[in-house]
Amino acid sequence: MKKRKKGNLEGINLEIVFVGRSNVGKSSFIRELTGKKVKVGKRPGVTLKPHHINYSDLLLTDMPGFGFMSGVKDRKKDIVHDKIVRYLENNAKRVKVAVLVIDGPAFMEIADRWDRRDEIPIDIEMFEFLNELGIDTVVAVNKIDKIKSSEYNQTMDNIAERLGMNPPWKQWTDIIAPVNAKKGDIQSARKLIQTYLHNAKRDDLLKYI
Ligand code: GDP
Repeated sequence: MKKRKKGNLEGINLEIVFVGRSNVGKSSFIRELTGKKVKVGKRPGVTLKPHHINYSDLLLTDMPGFGFMSGVKDRKKDIVHDKIVRYLENNAKRVKVAVLVIDGPAFMEIADRWDRRDEIPIDIEMFEFLNELGIDTVVAVNKIDKIKSSEYNQTMDNIAERLGMNPPWKQWTDIIAPVNAKKGDIQSARKLIQTYLHNAKRDDLLKYI
C-alpha cells in the first residue's frame, strides 16, 4: 500500500464507496474484502467522516452508516444523510462503483415501516440516487445466514422487487449479491466488484479486492 498524506486524495482515478444503514454489517464486509479493520468508533453510526483505504490510484471509501442509530438524535441522522449525498455528488466522476450493504432478513420489515410513515425507505432511496448519478451499484444482501432456507428465494425476490428489479432475483445476479460477512462468505459480491474493475480495464487492481 502506497503511503499518502492523510487527506491528500490527488491522483485518485477510481473510487469504490460502501454505503449502508448502521449495523447492517458494512464494517464486517469491508474487513472481509480487504483484510483491513475499518470501524473507528465503538458506537455504531456515530462517525461522521468517510474513512478511506488507498491502494495505488484506487480509493475505497467507507461512508458513515445512515438511518437507525441508537442514542443518536434525528438531526444527526439528517447530517449523515446530507453528507453522503453531497460526497457522492461531488465525487461522482471518480466513483465508479458503490456497494450498498443491506440487512437481508430485516430489509422488508424496515422498508414496510418507512412506507407506513409515508417515507421512502432510506436503502431504496440510496439505491435510486446512486442509479441517478450513474454509479454502478452492487447490492450486498448481508446476514443471509439469518434467513430460513425455505424463505430464502422469496425474501430475495421481495428485496429485488422493492429495489425496482422484477423477480425472480436470480435475473439480477449482476447487481444483487447474497453474502454472509460474519462467516467471511462474500465471494459473490467480490466477484461483481472485480468484474467492474476488469471492465474498466484495471485488472492491475484485482489483487487488492
Ligand atoms: P456496521 O455498523 O454496518 O459496520 O456493522 P458491523 O460490521 O459492525 O456488524 C454489525 C453486527 O452485525 C455485528 O454484531 C456483526 O457481528 C453482525 N454481522 C455482520 N455480518 C453478519 C452476517 O453476515 N450474519 C450475521 N448473523 N451477523 C452479521
